Amino acid sequence: MTMAVLGTGIMGSAMARNWLRAGETVRVWNRTRAKAEPLIEAGAEVADDPGAAVDGVDVIVTMLYDVDAVAEAIEAAGDRIPAGALWLQTSTVGIDGAQRLADLAERYRLSYVDVPVVGTKEPAEQGKLTALASGPDELRDRVEALLRPIASKALWLGPAGTGSRMKLVANTWVLTATAGVSNAIALADALGLDGTDFLDVISGGPLDLRYAHVKGAQMMRREFPASFPVSGALKDATLILAAGESAGVDLAAVEAARRLLDAVAERSHRDDDMSAMYLAARRAV
Ligand code: NAP
Repeated sequence: MTMAVLGTGIMGSAMARNWLRAGETVRVWNRTRAKAEPLIEAGAEVADDPGAAVDGVDVIVTMLYDVDAVAEAIEAAGDRIPAGALWLQTSTVGIDGAQRLADLAERYRLSYVDVPVVGTKEPAEQGKLTALASGPDELRDRVEALLRPIASKALWLGPAGTGSRMKLVANTWVLTATAGVSNAIALADALGLDGTDFLDVISGGPLDLRYAHVKGAQMMRREFPASFPVSGALKDATLILAAGESAGVDLAAVEAARRLLDAVAERSHRDDDMSAMYLAARRAV
């Protein structure tokens, strides 16, 4: 079986590596070729354009920034897309985005599985993502087998598009949890307390969260190595708020997270991890 992975950013490169480790034949393409080249050592072939990447493959995986980037890559591959190939669309594209890509799949006669993932850089590297798969039931066994090298948990949620809905719900939790940690650590600092003591307060109790310790430590060090960049978090906040608006839900906590993200994005932190929200809470940007 041959796979094409379109997009080798933080997530796509880790996923491609795990498929290579599992013995799959993987061709990769990335707009900035230099980011795909480290995968050659792991056994990947690097293609110069999306068409060359998908030529003759059985499975196409997309892991690009947003719906426009995904649609452009598929359209650029155009006639070279093998009819009947399986398309695992793993980028976070929102509800309308997932539908737009389903329509594109129909145009190119691709079997479309909408399968965004939960988990950031480290789980992606460890093959421990949670996959939110949705698509035609007859593809379920094949898709679950394909997801095994990259995901420790794969949910099969229903018809295509259901995965993207659940991804917005999951990221509502991620964004608001990060904003919550940023506020607690910022307030602790500003009140002359040690953020580590706050983490001790919650440690082992019902409100403890391993994530609070990881992100909290970054905030206290004021170092924000990107696992989930501010740019992606902002894009997702916008998708979530649009979904909330059309579903009649007041997502005030997500709006607050977006306000913090906007503030750091305006000050050259777009490529930092979203834990940089702390700087906005501290009014340090
Ligand atoms: P990333 O490291 O910033 O990678 C983004 C990828 O998209 C790169 O390959 C980039 O190419 C490409 N890209 C951006 N704009 C493009 C365009 N106009 N045309 C072609 N390619 C374009 O981001 P990531 O964290 O891997 O995220 C990828 C997707 O996964 C996003 O939808 C994100 O929301 C989702 N996601 C991220 C996480 C996370 O924690 N990081 C977790 C789950 C899901 P270049 O290298 O040329 O810029």
